[in-house]
Amino acid sequence: MKQDYDVIILGGGPAGYSAALYTVRAGFSTLVIERMAAGGQMNETTQIDNYPGFSEGIDGFSLGMKMQEGARRFGAETKYAQVTAVSLEGKVKRIDTDGGSFTARAVIIATGAGHRHLGLAHEAELVGRGVGYCAACDGQFYRDKTVAVVGGGNSAAADALVLSRIAKKVYLIHRRDSLRATKVYHKPLEKADNVEFVWNSAVEELHFQEKLTGITLRDLHTGDARRLELDGLFISIGREPATELFRRQLELDDQGYIVAGERTETNLRGVFAAGDVRTKEVRQIITAASDGAVAAHYAEEYLNDAQ
Ligand code: NAP
Repeated sequence: MKQDYDVIILGGGPAGYSAALYTVRAGFSTLVIERMAAGGQMNETTQIDNYPGFSEGIDGFSLGMKMQEGARRFGAETKYAQVTAVSLEGKVKRIDTDGGSFTARAVIIATGAGHRHLGLAHEAELVGRGVGYCAACDGQFYRDKTVAVVGGGNSAAADALVLSRIAKKVYLIHRRDSLRATKVYHKPLEKADNVEFVWNSAVEELHFQEKLTGITLRDLHTGDARRLELDGLFISIGREPATELFRRQLELDDQGYIVAGERTETNLRGVFAAGDVRTKEVRQIITAASDGAVAAHYAEEYLNDAQ
């Protein structure tokens, strides 16, 4: 594997591989550096029905592999490694990983954002077996079942509303006594007779037998604990962008996302941010893929100008 590329893309999700497809087809040598497996957050989703072109839907892992293969077909390379340091300021950008160092003239950051986790014992191993982070993706597996949503923001409110139309019963568990979600969600949630608010409460323990069977809840005012039998638990407590490595070089917003407009340009020339890692309103697979194409376009423009 060579060390020097025209474009290095950090992150092999939909933004990363769509950017790679475009830069490599434009004739620029392209390396994608991915930590785990192609697909990024899509790998957390068993069934994706909202990405066009797959009339029967597709699982996230397969879609990630297809995106990678599509870019590889035209010559995009992938290095599986953990990025340990970046130097983005000069004309030649340097990326250090636990598998060697690489340089490029342009860098597209597509490291995405992850769901914030509760950090409970067994939470990770129960993902896809009763624990989920996206009701729009996995809600349909809980038709006529009993589920709970944790959180009090717009995501939790939207998830609870989606689930109220699918599940038999939805508990909305929040650590405060009111939602921080915008008012537009309050009335429909109060009107849904299968939604029950559980205020001032925290999930303390997950119970399972192969799949989730219930949770222990702690009342934060009284200190009392009680058990709730559940088929599904959706954790909707916000997201965290993967931007720690860029903190000193790139402008981030107050939530840690890379500040970049619709042209995906960051405060540094030759450095672009695409997908969920960028400041934006809508974070979906299709908007990430779209961002990748846009970032590739402006990276190509930058590389042509810089030649
Ligand atoms: P958010 O607004 O940051 O809300 C996170 C919620 O989770 C808060 O209620 C917070 O409680 C709670 N929380 C955080 N950490 C927790 C923990 N460890 N244990 C228990 N609860 C915890 O995140 P979000 O709801 O995912 O929304 C993210 C962004 O997307 C927001 O800007 C939101 O407006 C936007 N969004 C918009 C829409 C829409 O407009 N339709 C839909 C979805 C998302 P506290 O209240 O106590 O802090």
